[in-house]
Amino acid sequence: MEKRATGKEKSKVVIVPCDSYDEETVYRAMQQGIDQLGGIRQFVRPEEKILVKPNFLSAALPERAVTTHPAVIKAMLRILSECGCEHVTYGDSPGHGSGEGAAGKLGLDEGNVYGAKFADMDHEVTVSFPEGAAAKEFYFCRGVAEADAVISLCKMKTHALERITGAVKNVYGFVCGYRKAAGHVKYPNASIFARMLADIHRCVKPRLHIMDGIVAMEGNGPGSGDPTPMKVLLFSADPVALDTVFCHMVHLDPELVPTNTQGEALGIGTYHIENMEMIVSETVGLHAGQKDGQSSHIISLRELQERFGNPNFDVDRKGTKKTFLSRYAEIMTSLTRRPRIQKDLCVKCGVCVSHCPVPGKALDFRNGKDQPPVYDYRKCIRCYCCQEMCPKHAITAGKRRNNL
Ligand code: SF4
Ligand code: SF4
Repeated sequence: MEKRATGKEKSKVVIVPCDSYDEETVYRAMQQGIDQLGGIRQFVRPEEKILVKPNFLSAALPERAVTTHPAVIKAMLRILSECGCEHVTYGDSPGHGSGEGAAGKLGLDEGNVYGAKFADMDHEVTVSFPEGAAAKEFYFCRGVAEADAVISLCKMKTHALERITGAVKNVYGFVCGYRKAAGHVKYPNASIFARMLADIHRCVKPRLHIMDGIVAMEGNGPGSGDPTPMKVLLFSADPVALDTVFCHMVHLDPELVPTNTQGEALGIGTYHIENMEMIVSETVGLHAGQKDGQSSHIISLRELQERFGNPNFDVDRKGTKKTFLSRYAEIMTSLTRRPRIQKDLCVKCGVCVSHCPVPGKALDFRNGKDQPPVYDYRKCIRCYCCQEMCPKHAITAGKRRNNL
């Protein structure tokens, strides 16, 4: 393993090209990525209770790219089963609806999850964390608190609050569903929220992070964006490094992502490319008549972007590194950028209103229930829970013009 200038080992991120959700193809790609990091036994022991934590933002069909694809989840469960792990659970706690409902929508059931059980994500356990930088206590789902080891299967997506959601953000699903909205009030901006997420990592210490980027979500993520193929699976024990590779693939400065900067500041990983080692691991056809083989090699940032990059990926790239003027610009942007409802898409269901965590609600049916809800931007903390939860993709994070 290559070392950093400090003598510490570099964070390894493995990139496995994969352009299909064919279950056997994904299984082989997952095995290849994990083997490149030293094999599954580097991360878990068969006798341990293991939680596999996908992203189940809401109940959505796999092709919408809202959730981790079921082929990725099944492949992970199969690898654990083949390793002899008998105490495997899987699950997530979405902010809206149930995790089991989301799993059902993805076609996951007892018959195809290799003996794994759905984790208890309904009951909560209070976990004290006095060393937390932002959070001293968490309300975790019982299934998280009872696990010896967690493997996180995140999805490559954009996010209105943090610009992207990947490995660092995926742990917010450890928090019991109905507690999530209150967390946005307690940690009311992107940086403080990111520090709280880093505290969750410091507390739970997920052992392995795998990002489903075979088809990613761009645009109005994390729930209402557009699926776009990125054709990769990413693997790392370092969640910040993993997210950083995603940033570089979409030409987003990793320093603009609070989960990266706060994550590094709190010691859960690095977003500095010089502290990382990126390895492409792929299956290559050998000569005629011979079996396929595996090839692995370290790649540079330039090669990463040339082979796997998408400069047109729709993600918020506005802003610059932290100068005085840019901080001012950032504050002004946060004041003018706000959620807004597209009237023609709104079905007046009220999901956005019920998920607004602000006491007294920052949006409500002030014009009656036959009209879309109306924002009170003086109260709005820009948590974007409403945008995340709207089932009709009627809410976008835009500039102040034409807002309702
Ligand atoms: S959740 Fe979406 S569709 Fe429902 S009321 Fe709010 S904006 Fe309209
Ligand atoms: S209106 Fe939307 S963005 Fe504003 S506080 Fe409520 S849920 Fe958050």
